[in-house]
Amino acid sequence: MSIRFDIMTLFPEMTDYILGESIIGRAQKSGAISVFSHNIRDYSKDKHRRVDDTPYGGGMGMLMSPEPIFDCYCAITEMYPCEHRRVIYMSPRGRILNHKIAREISEYEHVIVLCGHYEGVDQRIIDEIVDEEISIGDYVLTGGELPACVMIDSIARLCDGVLSSPECYEGESIASGLLEYPQYTRPVEFHGKRVPDVLLSGHHANIEKWRYEQSLELTKKRRPDLIDNLEQNKLK
Ligand code: SAM
Repeated sequence: MSIRFDIMTLFPEMTDYILGESIIGRAQKSGAISVFSHNIRDYSKDKHRRVDDTPYGGGMGMLMSPEPIFDCYCAITEMYPCEHRRVIYMSPRGRILNHKIAREISEYEHVIVLCGHYEGVDQRIIDEIVDEEISIGDYVLTGGELPACVMIDSIARLCDGVLSSPECYEGESIASGLLEYPQYTRPVEFHGKRVPDVLLSGHHANIEKWRYEQSLELTKKRRPDLIDNLEQNKLK
C-alpha cells in the first residue's frame, strides 16, 4: 500500500519544489508515495482572498482563519475518502519528531498536513480536524512548510519502494539505536589522512567489529541518552 500525503499550505510551490526533487521526487514518480499540495487561499471566500485576521484579545501578528482551512480539508477528504487517516498540524507546541514517530505515521494510508503561518492557526480548527501537533525541534520557524517537508521526508524513506531496501535505513544513525560509525570513500589518502587500515583489509568480521566499536564510542560521547535506551530495551 502506498502512502498519500496532502499538504494544506499558503505556499504550495515551496512544498512541491522541495518534495519534487531527489529521492522523494523519484518516489512520487514511481508511485511509491504520492504528495499533493493545496493552496488554502483557494478556499477563501473573501474577495481579496484573505486567509488571516487579528487575534481576539489583542497581541502581535495575524492568525490563520478557520473557514478556508476547513473547506480545504473537506475538499481533500471528499476527493480521497479513507478510514486510515492521520491529520497533523506542524507546530512548535507538538510532540518532537523522531524516528519512532516517523515510523508510527508511516503506518497510515493517508496523512493530511496543515502548515501554519504568521502567529499560527485558530484553535477551533485544531480542535475540529487535527489528530496531533508535531514539532521538528525546539525553535520557531516562520511557517510550517519546511517542517512538513522534513516530516514527510523522514516518513517517506521508511515506505516500501522509496529506498532500495530497509537495510538502507535500519543500520543508520538513530534507527539502529546508535549513531553511525565514520565512513570513507576514495581516495585512500586525502590531505595526509589515510582511511583506517581495517577498512582496506577485506576482513568482514573485523570491519563489523570496528564499526560497532566506533558507533558505540561516538554515541557514548555525543548521545549518552541513546545508550540508556539501548540498555532499557535489552532489559525488556
Ligand atoms: N505563535 C506560534 C507559537 O508560539 O507556538 C508560532 C507560530 S510560527 C511563527 C508559524 C508556523 O510555523 C506555525 O503555525 C507552525 O505551522 C510552523 N512552525 C514554526 N516552528 C515550528 C516547529 N519547530 N515545528 C513545526 N512547525 C513549526
